Amino acid sequence: MKKWMSFCLCMLFFSSCAFLNAQAKEAKVESFRLSENMYRFVLNDIVNIVAFSGPDGVLLVDDGFDGNPAFGFVHSPAAVKAELKKIGNDRIRYIINTHTDLDHAYGNSELGPDATIIAHQLGRERLAGLSQFPQAGLPNLTFRDSLQLYFNGEEIDLFYLPGHTNHDIAVHFKKAKIVCVGDLIIPDSFGSISPTGNARSLIKAIDLLCQRFGADVVFIAGHDRPLRRKELLIYKDMVEKTLAIVVKASKQNQNLETMQKNDILKDWKSWNGVLFKELDANGWIEMLYMSTIKALKPSAAKRLGELLADADDAAVQSAIRRLLAGRSAYYFLEREFNLLGYNLLNEGKSVAAIEVFKITVELYPGSWNAYDSLAEAYAKTGSKELAIANYEKSLQQNPDSQSGKDALRQLRENK
Ligand SMILES: [Zn+2]
Repeated sequence: MKKWMSFCLCMLFFSSCAFLNAQAKEAKVESFRLSENMYRFVLNDIVNIVAFSGPDGVLLVDDGFDGNPAFGFVHSPAAVKAELKKIGNDRIRYIINTHTDLDHAYGNSELGPDATIIAHQLGRERLAGLSQFPQAGLPNLTFRDSLQLYFNGEEIDLFYLPGHTNHDIAVHFKKAKIVCVGDLIIPDSFGSISPTGNARSLIKAIDLLCQRFGADVVFIAGHDRPLRRKELLIYKDMVEKTLAIVVKASKQNQNLETMQKNDILKDWKSWNGVLFKELDANGWIEMLYMSTIKALKPSAAKRLGELLADADDAAVQSAIRRLLAGRSAYYFLEREFNLLGYNLLNEGKSVAAIEVFKITVELYPGSWNAYDSLAEAYAKTGSKELAIANYEKSLQQNPDSQSGKDALRQLRENK
């Protein structure tokens, strides 16, 4: 399953912020001054935190991630605190989460024991349901449409602006003329749309920012460099035009894999992500495709998961037949079938898992990854010959798969 590893994990953990290619680093903070008492902290070269300091204390917009070895980072709240000490004020009174991806909200519990933590109501609901999120860091002040805050002599407008997720908010510092926009925009890169986000809402959100703010405003995204209004207009144009290409291909009955194979965004590759390599043309096609197709049809893999939830081993085949009989009612995505297979395998439902991987191979016969996953499931359940046969098929399609080569060698040695 190597091919999907990074994408699946970031969908689950960071919801589309992709850090898995980043190398393990010491937690470090670089500080850039935005105005007399506002700073942009850049955490580990990746995440932006805006710190606003004054006589009332400190307000943070977003607060970074905790250390997680799987993501190559060490603990980060201490580095943020140390940087606040350097600017002479570490009394954190407010933390605002532009959204709840964990690279923006995971520091809540450690940085905010004495702070009011503000987020959109749907953001709090999401965090409350995440078992890996420290519940002490749940936002304790939420809103739905807008909220005004008066702090350090500044007037701060918070308003609901979904697109990247269903609960993004923008934060406008009126006197400083600074607007924090979270991950609604990934500067110099294709965008990021999480499973709860939506491409059309994203366009609407950027459009609203362009209408509401002028050339004198600085936009701080969740990552990378500050932007101006004219750059937002160019960004909106990219999202609109690439979405139109995906919608057109969809109307021509191209599925996701065909769109990617046909390289339908080949003229737009100057937007391939630099900071996040995963945000390339193929990743963007997938996000646009998902956000349009989801509105039209439910997921076949999700439906199969429901059908298999109560099925014993003997009923697995009939559940799959039932799904395929009504296949035109669903959208099919290889990655979702792959994930379902692994979820079943992890739950110990190996018969169902193997059948799901077999169906994936039938649906996507050109996918080395589908054979690789089936082989892994056979290997885990002791069917060595079948595992070897499927690793061989996978390697025929992708001779460069190191994990496949290693697994095959081990199986042959232990035969
Ligand atoms: Zn992010």
